[in-house]
Parts: sequence; C-alpha cells; structure tokens
Amino acid sequence: MIPQANPLASYLAQKAEIDASIQRVLSGGIYLLGPETIAFEDEFARAVGAGYAVGVANGTDALCLALRALGVRPGDHVVTVSHTAVATAAAICMAGAKPVFVDIDPHTYTMAPGALAGVLSSLQRQSAPIGAIVPVHLYGHPADMDAIGAIADRYGVPVVEDCAQALGSSIDGTHVGRVGAAAAYSFYPTKNLGAFGDGGAVTTSDSEVAKRLRALRQYGWRDEARISAEAGVNSRLDEMQAAVLRVKLTALETNVARRRAIAATYDEAFSALPVVRPSSAAGAHHAFHLYVLGLEQREETRRHLEAQGIGVAIHYATPVHLHPVFAGRAPPLPHTERAAQRVLSLPIYPELSEDQIWSIIRAVVSAF
Ligand SMILES: *Cc1c(COP(=O)(O)O)cnc(C)c1O
Repeated sequence: MIPQANPLASYLAQKAEIDASIQRVLSGGIYLLGPETIAFEDEFARAVGAGYAVGVANGTDALCLALRALGVRPGDHVVTVSHTAVATAAAICMAGAKPVFVDIDPHTYTMAPGALAGVLSSLQRQSAPIGAIVPVHLYGHPADMDAIGAIADRYGVPVVEDCAQALGSSIDGTHVGRVGAAAAYSFYPTKNLGAFGDGGAVTTSDSEVAKRLRALRQYGWRDEARISAEAGVNSRLDEMQAAVLRVKLTALETNVARRRAIAATYDEAFSALPVVRPSSAAGAHHAFHLYVLGLEQREETRRHLEAQGIGVAIHYATPVHLHPVFAGRAPPLPHTERAAQRVLSLPIYPELSEDQIWSIIRAVVSAF
C-alpha cells in the first residue's frame, strides 16, 4: 500500500534534529509564545519574502484572523472560490462575513479573474459591503495574481491569499503571498511544511497588520500590560510545533524540488494517456502540494488504483457552494462543478521512493 500522504516519513527523514528540538523545548519549560515561535516567525517570513509572520493555531484561524486584521466586519461579503477546502469558506464565516463564490479557470483550477470582476461589479451595484477577496493557490499552483490584484485595486478591496497549499510556489520568481495585504498558511501535517498536529501562520508586510494579528491571536492583548481593546481569540502556535517546523523549514527547498521532479516524471509517463495533466501558467512555479489528474472516467480509475494499493484522493468531491451549509447561495459554477467530477490526486511527497513512483505510474497506465 502506498499512502496518499505520509507525515511519518517526514519525521523519520529528519529524526535526530527533530528529537533534539523537542527535547530542547521540554527542558526549557516555555511551551507557548517563547523563543522557538519567535525564531520560527522570523525564519518563515524570510523564507517567503514577507516582512512579518505571525504564528497561529491552524490555517483556518490564519485566514479568519487575517480578514479581521484587515478590517473585515460582520456582514461584509468576502469573494472566494468554491473549488477549495471547506476551510476557506469556514474561515470567512468565522470572521462573521458572507462567502460569495466565483468560478475557476479550468486549466489552473484557480480563481477566474473575469468571474471575480463580474461578481464585484454586481455586489457594488447592490451596494453590498465588500470586505475582501480570498484567492486560493490550489494544489500549489499560484492564482493569477497580476489580474486579481489589479481588479482588487480597482475596487479598493484588500486581498488575503490562501497559501495553505502553496508554500514554495512563486510567480515570476516572487513567492506567493506578496500581492495581497496578507497571506494565510497551514501547517497541517500533510501540507508542504507539516507540523505534528495543527499549526498556521499569517504573513504581511504591514507592521500595523502584524501588530493587530499578534493582539487578535491572544485575547486581544495589545501590549505587556495585557489590555484588550477588542475581542481576540486564543490561537497560538505552540513551541513544540514551532521547534519542529524550524527543522523542517531547512528542508523545504529540497522537498519542493523533489515534489516538482516527481511531477515531471508523472507528466512524462502519462503524456500519451487520455488524461488532463496539471498545467502551469506562464511564469508560475508550481509547488505540487498535490498532483491532480483530470479524468473522464474518474470513478473507474479510482477503483482500479485503490485495488492496486495506491492511496488516491479527491480534492474536492463536493464544491463548497453545494455543501448544505452554503447551498442556494451561489449560481451554478460550471467549471467548478465539472472539476469536482473529474479530479483525482495521486500520491506525491518527497519521501516517495523511485520504486513507489514507478508502481504508481504502472498502476495508472494499466488503468487504460
Ligand atoms: C489545509 C487548508 C486550509 C486550512 O488549514 P487548517 O490548518 O487545516 O485549518 C485552508 N485552505 C486550504 C486551501 C487548505 O488546503
């Protein structure tokens, strides 16, 4: 059996350093917002080229707190995509805002700028308050930030980039997360940088936004005097996770390169098959958090691969706007609904061996 993802392998790959780091935290006796978190925030900000990083409890909180820090208020509309993790929309609701869903580009599976412009113009005509735009760099492929950033500027609406799947992804050599006023990351165990539990971070280049995030993540406390000017939450990245993430961050570049090499091997092996392979837009550097095929006969292929012991998955089988909680809130989104019926994710992670990669390839080829 080859699992879809394998967080244990990422521990074993750096075991000695990780064990030493955990020991250091335990012996130090500071378990929250201590030296590991401070150091990790600094190292992470540098890795993605942001001014500031603020560690939080998970990626959903990162999105929600980023929206709040940028001034999104209850009742605001926040425009995002439906072809994403439900977490994206859940975070918007946690901020008290209403998610408004737009369709995707069928080639990159990310927010279609034309659809965004249409929805913003219609919200404006209705005088609906627009709080923010949340593009998602799905699967590790960057959304079209040149176009989305220009549209956002035209409407004067801030952008929060959902980078949960996009650590290591860049556009024209610049890491994602720099066009928006803030970006949200998840360190869920199977993400490109995975903790041993939950973790997340918000990056920004605005010191005021960073300050506001630091207050919001801890009861609204503004300073050493522990005075709250607004209601915050408890959403801290803990020291144990920060210490683990610091070790894993040193392997990030190598690991993303390995993901890309595996994707290139898959691409070549599948070139003659009747499947839609992942495409990369011009200037886009795909981080391959997921390797997703588009298939006409998805269910047959899925059953075939499962029978061969290949851990496949579907990201995502039900578009967010069709989940009961959001149903009836969006018009039909044809590209999103079509993608949901066709996508299939193959295992892709740095620790896959050559033997495993070729077993996966043979299994896929034999399905046709
Ligand atoms: C994983 C993920 C999130 C949520 O992150 P958590 O850490 O699980 O809260 C949000 N958006 C996307 C696109 C994700 O893949």
